[in-house]
Amino acid sequence: MNYKKNDTLILKIEDMGKDGEGIGHADGYALFVKGALAGETVRVRIMKIKKQYGFARLLEVTEPSPHRTTPLCPVAAACGGCTLQHMDYAGQLSFKEKKVRDCLVRIGGVDMDKVEFMPILGMETDDAGVAAEPWHYRNKAQFPVRSDEQGNPVTGFFAGHSHRLIPADDCRIQYPLINKTVSLIINFMQTYSIPAYREAEHKGLVRHIYVRRGYHTKQMMVCLVINGTFLPHASELIEMLKEIEGMTSICLNRNTSRTNVVLGPETELLWGSPVIEDTIGGVKYQISPLSFYQVNPIQTEKLYQTVLQFADLQGGETVWDLYCGIGTISLFLASQTPLKKSGRVIGVEIVPEAIENAKANARLNAITNADFYCGAAEDVVSNLTKQGETKADVIVVDPPRKGCDVKLLHTIVQMSPEKIVYVSCDPATLARDVKMLGAEGYEVKKVRAVDMFPQGGHVETVVGLQRKSM
Ligand code: SAH
Repeated sequence: MNYKKNDTLILKIEDMGKDGEGIGHADGYALFVKGALAGETVRVRIMKIKKQYGFARLLEVTEPSPHRTTPLCPVAAACGGCTLQHMDYAGQLSFKEKKVRDCLVRIGGVDMDKVEFMPILGMETDDAGVAAEPWHYRNKAQFPVRSDEQGNPVTGFFAGHSHRLIPADDCRIQYPLINKTVSLIINFMQTYSIPAYREAEHKGLVRHIYVRRGYHTKQMMVCLVINGTFLPHASELIEMLKEIEGMTSICLNRNTSRTNVVLGPETELLWGSPVIEDTIGGVKYQISPLSFYQVNPIQTEKLYQTVLQFADLQGGETVWDLYCGIGTISLFLASQTPLKKSGRVIGVEIVPEAIENAKANARLNAITNADFYCGAAEDVVSNLTKQGETKADVIVVDPPRKGCDVKLLHTIVQMSPEKIVYVSCDPATLARDVKMLGAEGYEVKKVRAVDMFPQGGHVETVVGLQRKSM
């Protein structure tokens, strides 16, 4: 390569990487440019050169993409969250669809000509078909709290891959009442001189403000994460928060370790109920602070409907829901007519609080054909099969980003279900696992991406696999 650090050049952006960064070639050498869109011509400065590729900074867009748009949020470029705000929504959706296709082809070796690749489900409408905006959708916030240079408490975001706080109090993808609640808590800290956490010294008190809201029930939960045992002026905080519409649960979570993990193991209820409730597709769910719950309620409904469609239940099946969280997919499927009449669901999840929620949720909805087990799916499922739980017609998996444990994939193959429905939040690990399942006799039949994270680069995918007939 003839260029060196700090050189500027004109670059044609040909493609976009997995986080939405633009990719162009100079002398046949790939350069990654944050903030540049496919199809654009840009002027860049070379920042870093590695053996195979390099990074360049966007200086000017000389020929913009028709999908370029002005970000709504003033800190969009600096904040690590919304990596696609400079792209219009149609552009975001086709970028995500392409990402899923590319991973399945390149990593998964899937022949897409043999697959029904259904159009991505975007957030142009809500679950009832009414027009929706791909903004203000998040039902959960966990904002870090730090002090500014004057010593005042501030909240915002850590800049991408760092612990540098970018102050922001009006997150555009957050439900507005959640932002308002966070601001009120910052005012409370200011009024009563409650110290913010100081990471470098591991001193100070308030580390994070965590807020969750039930979309259908409007119930709100606040959980203050503290580096200590005691919150001064807690009663004043409760008095203020109680006035917020829907406030149901106020908790303290203690996290005194030097860690990036937001929540500590111990939660104390200060006021109200230890859980909030929400509904999805007519099923009611209780949610604890430590339990996973999908963050985009409008799109979750579409995601679960897609799982239901791909599972194609006829009645009488035994369905496994692995990585089940609070049992949302399990109970959603168990409550459908074919399974309600006959059939059952077995859910497995590693977080004890989530499994407690799942069991309570089954009772809450009078669902008697669902059983839940706590532990690592890779261990629990093989143990259950040894104990005689061998019937498996459909296996749903919904693992975290790292994908399924390989031991679990082997167990699933041995259980030989007719169908596997793979729900994934990372197309790369999805494609890796699909390849392994393909080698063991499972064919990809249907694929559909769902946009759970408008304005951000991540994409959710549902894949329907079918056992090849022998
Ligand atoms: N299907 C659920 C949860 C999906 S998120 C929903 O839609 O809400 C993934 C879940 O996997 C989380 O609840 C996480 O706690 C759980 N998990 C992570 N590793 C696990 C493992 N090894 N075994 C079982 N569950 C695991």
